[in-house]
Amino acid sequence: MKLYQKITCALLIVCAAVFTACGGSGKLKDGTYTESSVGHNGTLTLETVIKDGKIADIKTVESSETKGLGQAAVDLLCRAIVENNSIQVDTLTGATISSNCVKRIMQETVKKAGASDKTIASMAAVAVRPAAEKTSYEYDIVVIGAGGAGLTAAITAKQGGASVAVLEKNGFAGGNTMVSGGGLNVAGSDLQQKNGITDSVEKFTEDTLKGGDYKNDPVLVGIMARNSVAAYNWLRDDIGVPFMQERVQQFGGHSVPRACVPVGNSGYTITEALVKKCETLGIDIFYETKAVKLLKENDVVTGVEAENGGKTVSFVAKKGVVLATGGFGANVAMRVEYNPAYGSEYKTTCIQAAQGDGIVMAQAVGAKLVDMGYIQVYPTCNPKTGIISYVANSRFDGAVLVNKEGHRFVNEGGRRDVISQAILAQTDKCAYLVWGSEIESAGKMTQIHAKEFEQLKATNLLVQADTLEDAAKAAGIDAAALAAEIAEFNSFVDGKKDPKFQKTGAFRKIAEGPFYIETVTPSTHHTMGGVAIDAQTRVQSVSGGAIKRLFAAGEVVGGIHGTNRLGGNAITDIIVFGRIAGSEALKD
Ligand code: FAD
Repeated sequence: MKLYQKITCALLIVCAAVFTACGGSGKLKDGTYTESSVGHNGTLTLETVIKDGKIADIKTVESSETKGLGQAAVDLLCRAIVENNSIQVDTLTGATISSNCVKRIMQETVKKAGASDKTIASMAAVAVRPAAEKTSYEYDIVVIGAGGAGLTAAITAKQGGASVAVLEKNGFAGGNTMVSGGGLNVAGSDLQQKNGITDSVEKFTEDTLKGGDYKNDPVLVGIMARNSVAAYNWLRDDIGVPFMQERVQQFGGHSVPRACVPVGNSGYTITEALVKKCETLGIDIFYETKAVKLLKENDVVTGVEAENGGKTVSFVAKKGVVLATGGFGANVAMRVEYNPAYGSEYKTTCIQAAQGDGIVMAQAVGAKLVDMGYIQVYPTCNPKTGIISYVANSRFDGAVLVNKEGHRFVNEGGRRDVISQAILAQTDKCAYLVWGSEIESAGKMTQIHAKEFEQLKATNLLVQADTLEDAAKAAGIDAAALAAEIAEFNSFVDGKKDPKFQKTGAFRKIAEGPFYIETVTPSTHHTMGGVAIDAQTRVQSVSGGAIKRLFAAGEVVGGIHGTNRLGGNAITDIIVFGRIAGSEALKD
């Protein structure tokens, strides 16, 4: 070794020693640092402990990020930062805003702890979800999409003895299922029996067909209704999903209350339990892995081509591929392609991943599509963000809808499409949901969804007042007209009949304060169209018959809900057909 090489080498060793002594992140001063920034839903505050010059711990002190989604990004990024003592972490696909918020906070934190820009730049780049190790994998069954349908199919297939991979384009599991209210309709559940509700498979089937204007595939509807109890029992007993015991919800269009609601009134309760089950069973979930193409040889689907970490990775599926990629509610271009009425003037309740990828991939291998023009809007969403308002589920406990002029205009317990169209016909294309303490004590929506309640109040979308008049004035509604309308409505409740709009569902007075008035508007919510399947969930070909070894379950499928999906039917659908897809794919 020449002299200058020896000197350089010695200098490098000294630098490395100094760098390591400082924890690899430069000179960080020990201490506890608290920093905040604005995330997706509100303020995020992190408390960071620096010990021996290293980032030793990060705690979330305050967060409004969505459980499992933005909060997954916060948790995963913080863990990666501590494990690697570096803030140069990448963002999590599907949760960019929350990821960037964490990065901003940590940038400020390490700067306060004495790190220079140069030190920060020299920190090692860290992948929060490490890239796939190989470019080719082989499994019995490959499931595309780690939402409710995909995770259910994967668990069922694995329990049947198959090796299973789940490909998920986001950095986290859950899909729309996670952000849903989680309520699933079950005809004949223990909860209905406990609450003295009489129901039957026939009634459930008829309500669903009627709700979909009889455009539904009756065979698939029958399968869903007949298997609803088994799906619910499976979630509760095999997967360990806890359900609210005191609540059986009656969504619009159902003739009796039949929705079993998971604790927290959140689909996250379901997906969290499904993911845990996958981990227990040793199912490989490949995150940040976007399926781009179905591989087909001699008319048989043989696997999936995917993108992971900038590379193409192929997944051979020896027995079958299950498509469970969800709908296309967030894809404006695709919505307009199939129904020009649902363009960018509508915000969406869906997560951004709902782009219809599976439908496009299936179409490329000859799949038949059905009902693509049937797109559902949800009537009571946040006019600023488009996201669903769970506080507004007080509608199911009896809250009424009025317009700016203070008048009711629709049956609040009716179909989503009818209510949405009626709202869009009102002044400012929005409506005001009104309820008082009688309805609040029945459903406790402001308590169950306390964070959303506070956000709605902070953004002036919800007012709470001791008198109806004060609430009306604060909401900008004609107070005198509203008082007269509500007095009339209360007389309808006394007479147990609504001659004006034939209100269905819960029927309660609005007489005692505090009163609540929430501003709501419709957003696109669900896409009823998708790939055609048969009773075994085999994807049907445009040329007739099934495409060999290609199965589908969940919102990627069309035909089950006709023109209009009834509330609570999607979760029943994804669990029932997810289980069928997982077991049918095994049979080949
Ligand atoms: P998802 O849960 O959306 O999962 C699809 C997954 O596939 C996602 O994780 C996505 O990232 C992934 N993916 C997509 N493309 C690819 C690709 N190319 N490669 C890899 N992965 C991919 N229904 C009810 O019955 N009851 C309710 O209370 C209810 N509430 C709702 C509330 C909201 C806000 C929303 C948006 C919907 C609600 N729904 C409800 C509808 C219901 O949640 C959905 O229809 C259902 O969860 C869809 O499940 P899924 O498994 O088919 O799709």
